[in-house]
Amino acid sequence: MVKILPTLITVSLSLSVVFAHGLQDLKKRAGLVCPTAYAPLAPGAYPALDCTPFVQDPQVQAWLKLVDFTKTPVYPPSVKGECPTDVASIPKDRCWWTCQKCEAPDDVTFCPKAGTWGLTYDGTSYPETLKRAYNEGHQIAVHTWSHGSMTSLSNEQIVAELMWTQKAIFDIIGVNPIYWRPPYGDVDARVRNIATQLGFKTSIWTQDFDTNDWNIPATATPATVVATFKSWLVKIPTMKTGFIVLEHDLLPAEVNVSLTGILPIAYATKGLTMEPIAQCLNDAKPYKEGAGTFKLLPGSGGGVNGTTGTNGTTGPTVVNGNGKNSTSAAGSAFATTTSSVLMAGVGLAITALISVC
Ligand SMILES: [Zn+2]
Repeated sequence: MVKILPTLITVSLSLSVVFAHGLQDLKKRAGLVCPTAYAPLAPGAYPALDCTPFVQDPQVQAWLKLVDFTKTPVYPPSVKGECPTDVASIPKDRCWWTCQKCEAPDDVTFCPKAGTWGLTYDGTSYPETLKRAYNEGHQIAVHTWSHGSMTSLSNEQIVAELMWTQKAIFDIIGVNPIYWRPPYGDVDARVRNIATQLGFKTSIWTQDFDTNDWNIPATATPATVVATFKSWLVKIPTMKTGFIVLEHDLLPAEVNVSLTGILPIAYATKGLTMEPIAQCLNDAKPYKEGAGTFKLLPGSGGGVNGTTGTNGTTGPTVVNGNGKNSTSAAGSAFATTTSSVLMAGVGLAITALISVC
């Protein structure tokens, strides 16, 4: 049986771009030209790829009725998510992750149980890949339509970004994700409020747990990405909680460093448990319709004492896509075998994401 490592896969349906987390300028794919004037969409059509959707669209107008904007905090849209020179001037209540490193109480930023890695990848844009990932039990989440800085958008554009992505996902897999991840982690109280009113939970990576894989080959190399991950392995045993990592599977370099660098080390690390976000939060219903293909396993995340992974004598617990727990490795030799089987599954899954780019 081929085992697949389930992950949280964020979806930006239009995303087929080279982009940079942590940078404010989104590097769109070459030659991208977004329409400058609204034109009605053909029946069943979607907005232009990689472009912020027009809010005049009747579909968007219908979605706007789902949000009571009188309850939405009023803050001026940012300029491409960039922070003002005087960061101290930002009202505390704005809780702007990018500039204030502020996390709201309901932001998902870590896994409760120590030693647990909430595994996430960003992201896929291809219907068949999405369908396969969902069918194999991966948790699917929303990323946004055009991968811009959400704080830079109007209230109405925020609705359009989230809901078009949700609709496209629903049209492909038949469920609406609850979780979403703001590109660049760029979220503030205004964006959160709108997302929450639309039924979403905001998920960001744990502060400083950015692999920097998105920066290959600019300021990062596969070696530095792996070195970063290794540095966390020293830190993780001292942490009272688990963590969520920013990783990508958009470009071959990102996939390669994960498959050949990070994951082999993770599999060989005793006491490290890898789970989708919903699993680590003990959330059986990551979709608005319920569980979908996601199978919550007992005894792992959500602060519940797991069966493995914390006593230092077993290998990492990995959950397969069929909702069955793979056996934890009882020793290093078995761990290696388990890893190779699992790696094959991951390789298939992730290569599929890339081969169609
Ligand atoms: Zn992203």
